[in-house]
Amino acid sequence: MKKWVYFFGAGKAEGDGEWRDLLGGKGAGLAEMTKIGLPVPAGFTVSTETCDYFYKNGKKYPSELKKQIAENVAKLEKTTKKQLGDPKNPLLVSVRSGSARSMPGMMETILNLGLNDKSVAGLGHVTNNERFAYDAYRRFVQMYSTVVMGMSKEDLEHRLRTMKQRVGVKEDTAVPASGWKDLVAEYKQYFREKSGKAFPEDPMEQLWGAIGAVFGSWMAEKAVTYRRVEKITGLLGTAVNVMQMVFGNTGDNSGTGVCFTRDPSSGEKIFYGDYLTNAQGEDVVAGIRTPVHLTELAKLMPKVYDQLEKVRVKLEKHYRDMQDMEFTVEDGTLYMLQTRTGKRTPAAAFHIAMDMANEKLITKEEAVLRIKPEDIERLFYPVIDSKVDKKTLESKILAHGINAVPGAAVGKICFSANETEEWAKRGEKVILVRRETSPEDVGGMAVAQGILTATGGKTSHAAVVARGWGKCCIVGAETLDINYSTKTMTHTKSGKVVKEGEWLTLDGSEGIVYSAQLALVTPEFPKTYRTLMKWADEIRRLRVRTNADTPQDARKAIEFGAEGIGLCRTEHMFFTDFDHPEKSHDRQLAIQEMILADNREARVKALEKLLPFQRRDFVGIFQAMNGFPVTIRLIDPPLHEFVPHEHAKQAELAKELGIPVETVARRVEQLHEANPMLGHRGCRLSITYPEILEMQVRAIIEAAIECQRGGVKVLPEIMIPLTLDKKELGILEQATRRVADDLIKKANIKLPYLVGTMIELPRAALLANEIAEVAEFFSFGTNDLTQTTMGLSRDDAGRFLPDYVDEKKAGVFAGDPFQTLDIKGVGMLMRWGIEKGRETRPKLKVGICGEHGGDADSVKFCHEIGMDYVSASPFRVPISRLAAAQVVVETKQKAAKGKKK
Ligand code: PEP
Ligand code: MG
Repeated sequence: MKKWVYFFGAGKAEGDGEWRDLLGGKGAGLAEMTKIGLPVPAGFTVSTETCDYFYKNGKKYPSELKKQIAENVAKLEKTTKKQLGDPKNPLLVSVRSGSARSMPGMMETILNLGLNDKSVAGLGHVTNNERFAYDAYRRFVQMYSTVVMGMSKEDLEHRLRTMKQRVGVKEDTAVPASGWKDLVAEYKQYFREKSGKAFPEDPMEQLWGAIGAVFGSWMAEKAVTYRRVEKITGLLGTAVNVMQMVFGNTGDNSGTGVCFTRDPSSGEKIFYGDYLTNAQGEDVVAGIRTPVHLTELAKLMPKVYDQLEKVRVKLEKHYRDMQDMEFTVEDGTLYMLQTRTGKRTPAAAFHIAMDMANEKLITKEEAVLRIKPEDIERLFYPVIDSKVDKKTLESKILAHGINAVPGAAVGKICFSANETEEWAKRGEKVILVRRETSPEDVGGMAVAQGILTATGGKTSHAAVVARGWGKCCIVGAETLDINYSTKTMTHTKSGKVVKEGEWLTLDGSEGIVYSAQLALVTPEFPKTYRTLMKWADEIRRLRVRTNADTPQDARKAIEFGAEGIGLCRTEHMFFTDFDHPEKSHDRQLAIQEMILADNREARVKALEKLLPFQRRDFVGIFQAMNGFPVTIRLIDPPLHEFVPHEHAKQAELAKELGIPVETVARRVEQLHEANPMLGHRGCRLSITYPEILEMQVRAIIEAAIECQRGGVKVLPEIMIPLTLDKKELGILEQATRRVADDLIKKANIKLPYLVGTMIELPRAALLANEIAEVAEFFSFGTNDLTQTTMGLSRDDAGRFLPDYVDEKKAGVFAGDPFQTLDIKGVGMLMRWGIEKGRETRPKLKVGICGEHGGDADSVKFCHEIGMDYVSASPFRVPISRLAAAQVVVETKQKAAKGKKK
């Protein structure tokens, strides 16, 4: 019989921390903590496979599940010596979701399950606290009604507020037993009105309802959105964890908290966390009350704190990574409710990985594996420009809050997550301001520049989610009174009012909110970054180059660790003169004159004007890349991209060139193509107009000669784009060599250079053995290769591709194939192309220069199929360096695992 349910309790567990895929992160953590002897309440986990079965079978459970749940409930009752629904001493359970990847607050939780009109009395009796028992009961009825039955939270909250007014108290903690008792009755009445049924008294019925709700939450809009934003794919679903309840809200000797084994913001090795006295689990995470720092717990309950500190050490040693733990103290006794790998800021990720390697807790290789591509990306987040003077800064302070996620952000105030999404779509920069955030807000949070909340601590929903994204976030700015209906917020002390749409700057590192649009700058990388990247560089085999078209980009890329240029798109030089912007117009005019020329002579004349511009750019690039190879691609895009299409602009151009406007219009008309991406572009242009190739090769080689004479080491690689046949390539290769060799000979120097091609068409990949007879190197242009292999336009597919990725719609691809390589299809052509190419030319140099060269998963594939290098845009170079190292370590680990088996 297939096993769907796994028990843990009394020091034993059916499973362990490795079983994340099956038990979810939470279930696996509970099993592991139980096994290593930590104080974990007993319970059982319904596996993620059950969730998978549920969705694959029209939302039906496996037939064996009923029996297995009943058996596990019986086991739990035996272990805890309590029974569900017992009117004397009832067992209560929590029911929580938990998938293999943590999705904070995205799915549902139900607490205090097992309470009914009879067992509530038993709870009151054993705890000698009727007030507590009814408080627990109303919480359960509320959660069950909203989570399981989908009833309105607001309707229930409204009843709670009215009851408090009636009783005459402000705080929940001041509500007497009778108040809660009445509220339970009101909730149940509401439940009956809305559902037409009585509230379920049978604990087993309650349990099945809760299990269904947790599975249902896996496909809730907010969970699907979170997975999309976080690019989480390939999971079976969520597990359901049913665990004996312990209470942090039985009085001042109880409480609940969340803590991290190291500081998740800075990465420092300090015990870090929040604690709330007399509160139940969700109060901390929901950020409704602002908790105190963990050090306060040391004062309040030194013994518990010491015990927790020991748990911290034990768990970190055990998991060899920073842990995020939830705990509850019930009447002075500590219980661990969860442990998981802690989310951290990018800076902390580097800090922790480096420290742990230095502490010998992990190896350097593992440290490299610990960094995610996003961690690198997020190091680029800006800070407030230090040039903004202190006085201005001080005068603009609106409020102080808790510095949840560092960095700075500027944007216009928006009080709603939905509107934030709309504004961002319009291209606005937005700061999302909320009293607190909830999982419904993630869409808006994802597109906001920064997030500000008036309540909550560093472990509140807003803080946890924003930290995962490295997004600037301030929480607990309690002096701000936010009014959603008037769309304003008021500083309660100064009386200052700011409105929707006004500018705000957040300093997430200091926790300061400025009511101004301040200048931001991107900071230097932390020192730890350099150390880790050095380790990565020592491990990787793949070289990492950059796609750069200007000397400026080339220099920037060198700073990021580029080892050459993998693609210089020469046509980009036709538009802008980066060194002398005032000359950009001359460049544009020369290229337009060349295109409009109707005979070779006129074309050559125009090309001669372009030559000095291109030569100067190449000199700058060769200088920046001193000693590194530079791949320069000859003209690629269809010519119509360079000429104006509107009449007024055509008239202007005609005037400047001294030709009739009709000539311009006619030529533009001639250049029109129904399918320009598959038209007269790439090397087809040089077949028709060899003089373009001649000018470009001349510019490259003359620049190389000049640089070499000036002591710069040059390694030019001339690249022919969009080749489809050996003969075509041969013609252009010969033309290239004629010009280059002649110049080199005349200069009387030695200047080695390579002539190669891009592989961007399936035909070129399929016939790679023939192409390699001519080409000295291949560079996979996977933007075009994806487009031509899939028959999807790289310019237009964005309109419908999201449907292909959306798991709720078609879910055909796990991700956008223009971002992450389609390994199955395009990858097959690449593998074939390399294999065949090297059959002809064993030392064929192979690289990639499509956007995929800066995508971590694609880079890993490039390593596996034996490429020599990848090429990425300057800012993505570090991501590629890291991925290239990670794949080496991962391959080694896989091989070691394979051997063990
Ligand atoms: C490619 O097609 O992958 C490529 C790098 O060339 P471009 O993007 O310029 O077409
Ligand atoms: Mg291309």
